[in-house]
Amino acid sequence: MIEQKRILATSIPGPASQALQQRKVSAVAAGVSTGLPVYVTEASGGILRDADGNQLIDFGSGIAVTTVGNGNQRIIDAVTKQITAFTHTCFMVTPYDSYVQVCEKLNELTPGDHEKRSALFNSGAEAVENAVKIARHATGRQAVVAFDHGYHGRTNLTMGLTAKNMPYKHGFGPFASELYRVPMAYPYRWPGGAEHCAEQALRTVTDQIHAQVGESNTAAVIIEPIQGEGGFIVPPEGFLPGLADWCREHGILLIADEVQSGFCRTGDWFACDHEGVVPDLITAAKGIAGGMPLAAVTGRAELMDAVHPGGLGGTYGGNPVACAAALAAIESMEADNLAARAREIGDILTDRLGRLAEKYDEVGEVRGRGAMIAMELVTDAGSKEPAAALTSAVNKGCHERGLVTLTCGTYGNVFRFLPPLSISDDLLHEGMDVLEESFTAAVG
Ligand SMILES: *Cc1c(COP(=O)(O)O)cnc(C)c1O
Repeated sequence: MIEQKRILATSIPGPASQALQQRKVSAVAAGVSTGLPVYVTEASGGILRDADGNQLIDFGSGIAVTTVGNGNQRIIDAVTKQITAFTHTCFMVTPYDSYVQVCEKLNELTPGDHEKRSALFNSGAEAVENAVKIARHATGRQAVVAFDHGYHGRTNLTMGLTAKNMPYKHGFGPFASELYRVPMAYPYRWPGGAEHCAEQALRTVTDQIHAQVGESNTAAVIIEPIQGEGGFIVPPEGFLPGLADWCREHGILLIADEVQSGFCRTGDWFACDHEGVVPDLITAAKGIAGGMPLAAVTGRAELMDAVHPGGLGGTYGGNPVACAAALAAIESMEADNLAARAREIGDILTDRLGRLAEKYDEVGEVRGRGAMIAMELVTDAGSKEPAAALTSAVNKGCHERGLVTLTCGTYGNVFRFLPPLSISDDLLHEGMDVLEESFTAAVG
């Protein structure tokens, strides 16, 4: 465990990181870009240490992946033990117990107490692809409906489901057919006003599916219960339960993509739990295994089992080392009550950002749940014009001061805060001080 302290040993990025970045440019494809090119040598809790000896506060968790924190002792022990025992057999060839255990845990922890089955994969995109395969197979229908601002991955099918062109889709078409997009219930920018957003958005969505796709052609509606890359957009109360009811009425499957919002991030096991929404299929990845690559689809037994034997799988899916890490991560979440910790972190962040919003008109909205909190920046509160340049200036200021921050949003004007749940209150407050300082400097 490295000391939980921010240290600025050099300017950021320092000389060692800059030298590595030069090699990166010559060796790594330019399409794989780096948000903050400090080269990490060690990490634990809320701190990343780089090649120059700088220690940065981590408000990103590698995009919501190290939810239990780097340096988690349960994960270190479980992974070490598993690597010593064996690293791979391929579950489809000769199975092992930890894969089954992860599926049992997923069936128990995901929303709903109906009979469930799970299948394991490597990445979020792969989980989404498989959820769509299962939904089409089980319903015999083809159309899949996604939302404005939605993000579901970078493979061909999931690019088609993802809303934003740059950088995810530009020049990579053609995309798969039978994918449709409908407006998202985005209270802050809903034309009819936030107070009417739930009801009006639900009507618009269901009208559009009816008129443009046809309910009986629609296999599934896929939604992130809190949108991630699209800007941490939280649909208004009532929208998700209404959508779930409408889908059920028409035999359309509801797929909750909880790749970013799942596993205690929002203060519940899954973001769907907040309003008691029970999706037919749910995808999980990111926070599930403490940084090891693992993803899952969990769903109603009759849907999951509709697929013929051999129809689902993959060479690495549910790798034993990743499964060992997932079981250890889940044990940490349970033993340390990390859902409650996520809520505490949310309270601290919301309070601090709320105070910033009182001081600055450019803070259009603070939103989110648990340790998944965002701040949307605008040029002024009246026009709500997205302030992308200011967002990137503040982001740069945070990086230079030793705070790892992430931005997101269709218009690039949203700060998202995703600290590891093992971060201390002191580091949270210090990070917020750094943000405030960077904000003040950028606003001028
Ligand atoms: C990150 C993400 C994905 C894609 O996951 P990968 O592991 O990067 O393929 C899919 N859906 C959501 C909601 C995500 O946040």
